[in-house]
Formats: sequence, structure tokens, C-alpha cells
Amino acid sequence: MIRNWSSISELSTPPSVTATDLDALVQPALEALQQHLRECRDGVGKVIRLDDPETISAELQLEEWIGRGGMQPQDLGRFLAAYLQRVTRLNHPAYAGHQVAVPHPASAVADLVNGVTNNGMAIYEMGPPAVALELTVLRWMLRQVGWTPAAPATHASSAKPATPEGAGGVLTHGGSLANLTAMLAARAHCAPEAWEEGTPSDLIVLAPAVSHYSVARAVSILGLGAKAVWPIEVDARHVVQASHLESLRTKAKAEGRRIMAVIANACSTATGLYDPLPEIGAFCREHDLWFHVDGAHGASALVSPRDRHKVAGIELADSLIWDAHKMLQTSALCAAVLVRRDADLPGAFRQGLDYLVDHSHQAGPDLIHRTVECTKAPLGLKLFLTLATVGEDGMAAHWEHLCDRTHAFWKLISARDGFTCPYEPQSNILCFRVEGGQDLDALQTKLRARVLAEGDFYLTSATVNGRRHLRLTVMNPATDEARISELLDRLSDHARSINGGIC
Ligand SMILES: *Cc1c(COP(=O)(O)O)cnc(C)c1O
Repeated sequence: MIRNWSSISELSTPPSVTATDLDALVQPALEALQQHLRECRDGVGKVIRLDDPETISAELQLEEWIGRGGMQPQDLGRFLAAYLQRVTRLNHPAYAGHQVAVPHPASAVADLVNGVTNNGMAIYEMGPPAVALELTVLRWMLRQVGWTPAAPATHASSAKPATPEGAGGVLTHGGSLANLTAMLAARAHCAPEAWEEGTPSDLIVLAPAVSHYSVARAVSILGLGAKAVWPIEVDARHVVQASHLESLRTKAKAEGRRIMAVIANACSTATGLYDPLPEIGAFCREHDLWFHVDGAHGASALVSPRDRHKVAGIELADSLIWDAHKMLQTSALCAAVLVRRDADLPGAFRQGLDYLVDHSHQAGPDLIHRTVECTKAPLGLKLFLTLATVGEDGMAAHWEHLCDRTHAFWKLISARDGFTCPYEPQSNILCFRVEGGQDLDALQTKLRARVLAEGDFYLTSATVNGRRHLRLTVMNPATDEARISELLDRLSDHARSINGGIC
């Protein structure tokens, strides 16, 4: 039986939520989600609907619901059905937008479990099994890199691991926070006094200009100013030219600057191409420089025995970030910061946390010493349940399938009149351009705007070699050549009408 929730407000003490309440709410939510997934599977409906927030808010009656309260389970079902009509549909085969996973249902179940249990587990006591899961998936990730995990810390010694030589990590709420955490570790290595005294102004970071914006943001947050990111020379495809690193080192020396970190992309966000990690890594080892690999998207090649050669040299890194919510099928967010020396992570945060951490009766490791977050969601459950369900083979198959599809789309697009691709893809990210007319950059922008306004396809755009391109990130295993052919037809039609002055 479904309780009338409005009766709750008449009670002096609000009752706690019961299993029956959960069931009453989850059933209609589940039905709405099942309908959503069926529509996505059949490719019906829009993949994206870009109305303004006021229109959406009015249609969904958001203010009314807040004002009146008392949403019943059947209302919830109707509300979610309307909401799901408007979500950006990652499960739709016409989705080739940003680099966010079509999540495995096991990860969605983890979100529900986390939503009920709310184990904010940066402190061990707040979620012992969540910590055990996090440490286990981190060790799995470290072994993929080829690193030996540090011996598990069993008590407050998490700040001082038993095997200082072993590797370690922490899960964070996303790759941007992971990059910031890694830059903090690099700073602590280079300028240990910085935590107390502030960041010395002679520090610089070498990174390709096409690095994810969170890198410059992290450097700016550290107080260095974004100008402290010195661009490493790249080729026309934005891939790092490792031979230019030496001249940057000489220049830094001449100007009295210290290199805090050298950053490489594996792979780059815009193009999906990999920087030459063995060369960059060897340079860093030779000159004792902190080597950070941004593998938020492409470190997942590690899970594929066929493709892991793309990230050869990754083991030379001092720090590495790797998002599970991009290519490891988990829902957002689930990212990892991994370090070759476990002690470098607690070393990044040099703060006594005595009011939170009582060392006298410590039962297990507190992750709070190695992370920006205080309340930290049990992110490991998403990756664990997904891995436990699909296995390592399933992870590899997912990666390989998406890369294979992308390669097939590259062939399809390259072979077509009026379309060009600037490079052969190395992952599941592919840039291309529609030719024709005077202003090609403006054409790509107009094309994307038209396609998104129609809502039948979702693709992004990126600048490659100074030129605007359209960009496919093939995240959905159901996106096939027929779907991409339809997209190309649509783009051709629009290009003709734009260039013919019809619009
Ligand atoms: C996606 C991405 C990031 C940012 O990760 P979020 O999880 O979106 O914060 C950082 N670096 C690269 C190379 C990325 O592709």
C-alpha cells in the first residue's frame, strides 16, 4: 500500500524513511527509467532538447512542486517521465557528444545504494566497506599501469605507508579535481614548504596548449597564475614534440624558473590522440622532473591487451589521472589519481586534522589525508560492481568496440565527398570537417547549431590546427554506421542550404 505522504507534515516528529517508502518511490522511478531505456534503444525521440531553463522549469512545474510539496509516488512517476523526455540521452545511439560513459546498470545500482546509505567515507569509520572497495579498485588500476601497489595500510599509518616504494592512489569526484590533486602532489615534491609558506613564484609547468582546461585551472588555483603553464610544442595534430622539451628546460634555467611538472595527454580531449609517453617520460627521468600523465579519457586503453601499447611509457609517470566515468562504464563521477610513490599523496596535504581523526582507536586508513573532499561519496562501489559484472574482458571489449567503431566511421567519413578528417583516430574521438563555401570555420559552427536544434544527433566541435572541426566521441556501443551515414546526409543537406544562402 502506498502511504499518503502529505500526512507526514501533521506529525510532530517526522518519521524516518522505511523500506516500504523506498519501494514505493523506486517502483515508479524504475518504470519511468525502463520506458526511457526502451525509447533510447529503439532510437526514438530526440537525443537532445535545448530549451531554455525557464521553459523547462515551467513545463515540469518545478516552483509549484517546491511550494506545495506532497509529491506522491504516482506523481513521481509522471514527473520523471516528463523529465526523462528532456534529458540529454546518452543511451540513444545518436549520442556522440561529450566523453561521459553510457553507464553500466551495475553502476546505476551502486548510485542507488550510495544514495540510501550515504557513507561519506573519507574517514574510515564512515564506511569501512566503501574504503575496502576503493582500495581494491585502486590496486586493480595500479596493476593495470604496471605499478606495484604499496602494502595496504591498516591503521592511521595511511600517512606513512608500510612500503614507501609502492604505488598508491585515491578516487576523486572527477578528473578536474584529480588534476588539481596531482598538481598539489607535484608542488609538495618540488616545494615542500609551499603548504605553509605559499607557492614560490619561480615554479612553472610544461604542458601542451591543448591540455584540458582543468590543468591551467589547477595551476591558477595553486597561486602560480595560468601564465606559469609554458606550452610544449606540438605538431599539426596537437601531439607533443618531445624533442622540444630540452629547449624549454634551457629557457627555464636561463630565466631562473623551476619546472614543477611536465604534463602529457593520454589522450588529448579535443583529438583523442596520444602524446609520446616513452620519450617524455625518459626526459623527465633523466632530468628528475615530475611527470604527470592526464589519462582521464585514454588511460582506459590499459585494460585492452590489444591497445595498451598506446599508453606504453605511462609507468614512467609520477602521477596519473584516470576517469572511470568516461571509458570504464561507470556513472559520473568516479576518477582516480594514481601516484608512483604512495607517500606523495598524503604528502600533498600537510594539514593536521585532529578534530576529525582520532588516532587513539583507529581501525583503518583515513583517506582524508590524501583528498580535497571531506564528505566523499563511496565512488569505488560503482567501478567495483561494474568490473565484477563485466570482468576485465568485458572492460577490454567495451574499449575495443568503441575504438573499432570510431575507426570504421573515420573510413566512412574520409571516403565521402565534401568531408575531410585531419588524422586517423587512435581512440574513440574523431574530428572531421564539412567542406564547401567561403568561411569553413563558420560553416562547422552553423552546422552543429542546426543539428543540435533539431535534436536528432548530438555531436561536439573542437579546434584542430587553428581550424574549427566537428567532433564525434563514440561513447555508445549502439551507434552504428547507418546512424553516422544519416548524420552525414543531414550535414550535407544543411551545408548545401547554408552555402546556397537559403538560410
Ligand atoms: C575529461 C577530461 C578531464 C576532466 O575530467 P572530468 O572528470 O570531466 O572533470 C581532464 N583531462 C582530460 C584529458 C579529459 O579528457
